[in-house]
Amino acid sequence: MNVIFYSTRKYEKDVFEKQNKSGHHFRFSELQLNRETASMAKGSDAVCAFVNDDASASILEELFEAGIRFIVLRSAGYNNVDLKKAKDLNIKVARVPAYSPYAVAEHTVALMLALNRKLIRANSRVHDLNFSLDGLTGFDMNGKIAGVIGTGQIGEIVIKILHGFGCKILAYDKIENQSLAEKYNVEYSDLDNLYSESDIITLHAPLTAETHYMIGKSSIEKMKNGVMLINTSRGALVNTKDVIKGLKTGRIGYLGLDVYEEESKLFFQDHSEDILQDDVISRLLTFKNVLITSHQAFLTDTALRNIADTTLYNLDCWGQNSSSPNEISI
Ligand code: NAD
Repeated sequence: MNVIFYSTRKYEKDVFEKQNKSGHHFRFSELQLNRETASMAKGSDAVCAFVNDDASASILEELFEAGIRFIVLRSAGYNNVDLKKAKDLNIKVARVPAYSPYAVAEHTVALMLALNRKLIRANSRVHDLNFSLDGLTGFDMNGKIAGVIGTGQIGEIVIKILHGFGCKILAYDKIENQSLAEKYNVEYSDLDNLYSESDIITLHAPLTAETHYMIGKSSIEKMKNGVMLINTSRGALVNTKDVIKGLKTGRIGYLGLDVYEEESKLFFQDHSEDILQDDVISRLLTFKNVLITSHQAFLTDTALRNIADTTLYNLDCWGQNSSSPNEISI
């Protein structure tokens, strides 16, 4: 198959070229898929897209006109694709349902620990030969109440790790996993109770109409003073302006983000020479108790290899005129 890759970075290109055993023809572009770049797909059979590529209705129409009949996502989430439009156009869409939930879960806990033990401040202090401990007091994870929203693949591993620390786990999911609950002593709860009881709240639900801005003014008001909030799921689960207000009052004591609702204009790119135009992230960056990574929770060698292997498998299936089990249907 002839495949055009959008939003490609070197670390992905190398793995895809190495794992390409079926002789697919790749064209790699660093550009995001959007209105300006959709026409670049002409001459390809398939588009390979990532989390911030725009596969909304009008872009899909352009891709169809350009000859695209397949879209392979290098991600698990697919909130950036208009699946109904894809179906109407008979464009098949497949994803990588699981590449390493461990990668994301472990990064989630890395954010928690780095925030709690103020590792970033501590590290910059010692590099400045300041060995004082003032302001670096953390808290024991043991015995704290962690509220986990979304107990799918990633949420489950986060629970396993936090259970290992001795945290008590409250969870919320539309579908409760009773065997998980028994194994790690998880108490499923309604959201209001989870918000008011948790010392740490971590988000692992997908972005849907229902979860959009689930963390905003009214949910933040229910939270404990000084709560730690972590989002490694999708940016728009969180109303960032409301979170900034929560940080200013101290209601939110720690904020760890791997995703940001306006990330598509910033993340994955080097803007170090630019003037920052986004006033919201610029305010976030002024808080000492905020830690932001630019959507890197997935980024481990295992995950990259698994993403490439599953994406190539999806292409192989279509190349042989069969369907892939990873197709997303509505
Ligand atoms: P999953 O499908 O295994 O689990 C999602 C869980 O959320 C399911 O148990 C589902 O029932 C639950 N859910 C759905 N709607 C809900 C709602 N309204 N309220 C509460 N729970 C709800 O997905 P996963 O593999 O665990 O991934 C979770 C999310 O993590 C993905 O949707 C994706 O957005 C994000 N993700 C981020 C990265 C990253 O690099 N930061 C990488 C992979 C995935």
